[in-house]
Amino acid sequence: MMTAPALSISAETSVRPFPTRLLIDHRWVESESGETFASVNPATGEEICQVAAADSADVDKAVRAARRAFEQGPWRKMNASARGRLLHRLADLIETNAEELARLESLDNGKPLSLARRVDLPKTIACYRYFAGWADKVQGQTIPIDGEFFCYTRHEPVGVVGQIIPWNYPMLMQAWKLAPALATGNTVVMKPAEQTPLSALRIGELILEAGFPEGVVNLVPGFGPTAGAAIAGHMDVDKVAFTGSTETGRLILEAAARSNLKRVSLELGGKSPNIIFADTDLDEAVEGAHLGLFSNQGQVCCAGSRVFVEESVYEPFLEKSVARARERVVGDPLDPRTEQGPQVDQAQMDRILGYIGSGLEQGAVLACGGNRIGSRGYFVEPTVFADVGDAMKIAKEEIFGPVMSVIPFSSLDDVIRRANNTIYGLAAAVWTRDIRKAHAVANSVRAGTVWVNCYNVLDTRAPFGGFKQSGSGRELGEYGLQQYTEVKTVTVRL
Ligand code: ADP
Repeated sequence: MMTAPALSISAETSVRPFPTRLLIDHRWVESESGETFASVNPATGEEICQVAAADSADVDKAVRAARRAFEQGPWRKMNASARGRLLHRLADLIETNAEELARLESLDNGKPLSLARRVDLPKTIACYRYFAGWADKVQGQTIPIDGEFFCYTRHEPVGVVGQIIPWNYPMLMQAWKLAPALATGNTVVMKPAEQTPLSALRIGELILEAGFPEGVVNLVPGFGPTAGAAIAGHMDVDKVAFTGSTETGRLILEAAARSNLKRVSLELGGKSPNIIFADTDLDEAVEGAHLGLFSNQGQVCCAGSRVFVEESVYEPFLEKSVARARERVVGDPLDPRTEQGPQVDQAQMDRILGYIGSGLEQGAVLACGGNRIGSRGYFVEPTVFADVGDAMKIAKEEIFGPVMSVIPFSSLDDVIRRANNTIYGLAAAVWTRDIRKAHAVANSVRAGTVWVNCYNVLDTRAPFGGFKQSGSGRELGEYGLQQYTEVKTVTVRL
């Protein structure tokens, strides 16, 4: 195995100081226990700062504040259009501070600064703006029921919403959760991921600056089994929205079932098929498959991690994909040439290296990569496995890292059956010039999103979510509002 060169990480990582405590009822507070945890720069393995660690006592306090804000505060009485204006103000403040936020996200998560600038920031801002527009457009129906009655529905907020978010797109996942919840008039207790709490807290400052009423947004950074579990099992949280692994999603659903049957929406893992037919433009498909898997260090829930390639173009596709992966620039997230930064932490890096080991053991052919890079930070080589069998662990389990599995297929029916042979159903893609094949795949693949001749096209206006064990409920778009409203039927005798 080749030894990869060590990486040079620039020292230019300082960001301006801001509160790294809990945001409860409009105040920055220490945790009840006084405990803190380190947020680490994954490019160096060094501590950036300490952050207050919430546990159940803090979650209790936050839920009480959110309940008070929901029942008694000005939030419910406010005009819906005023809620929209607050969300617009928040979006404007994020835009004003975009460069600082992009740097913070890159520092805490390890993603290339160029990616944070190009994707995370604009998409975060777009999400708040989009849902700001919905705030005064969430409306019910009038229904012609039998008899002398006037019947109508109201779409009311669910109440106190617990939101637990992951570390791969920290700021964007915060927006996906907060924006629809606030537009529809809920109050929120949110737990950012322990690996990446910083951008959520900086946005917390901007939420105060924007002028949201007290207790509407509460932020409780901390660990999953403590702060996260306290939210999921809380008797006074009306709904929990979660994005993360399927295993943790199961724990959340169990906690909801054991406590107050709170509503649950889940956006979980994936093992998405990316299907390349021989009639496609091969270079476009190679680049699409490359970005569909390696973007964001492969830490994307809808990553196209099973690349099915029609037998007649399998060899040239593999050759070009390996060449592209070898060219991928891995390094300092602040360097503008960098395409791939470090994995988010040591645990994720070790997990990925473990999967690479299992691929080798189970007889997949390592076409490139396969190693950690250097010994500082958590960098992994862009890795491509060829001749991957459907039953191999690397073809079945979510790796969440820069590891592509290339798999040959023989026919349309063959590939549809195999694409669906998974517990997951988050996304899929097909590359072809044949409109019939494109629609056959789009209609037959059991996944929440299907891309034709493109990948990772996510837009705040279009719904996103999973079939099967990839989750339940949809986020974004008009469908996303359903997660945050209860429908009330009012019947009036005339
Ligand atoms: P990963 O293993 O990739 O970190 P997780 O699904 O465990 O993914 O993490 C996603 C989010 O879920 C994080 O905010 C994490 O703290 C939280 N979490 C982890 N375990 C639990 C749990 N038992 N209950 C509630 N939240 C949890």
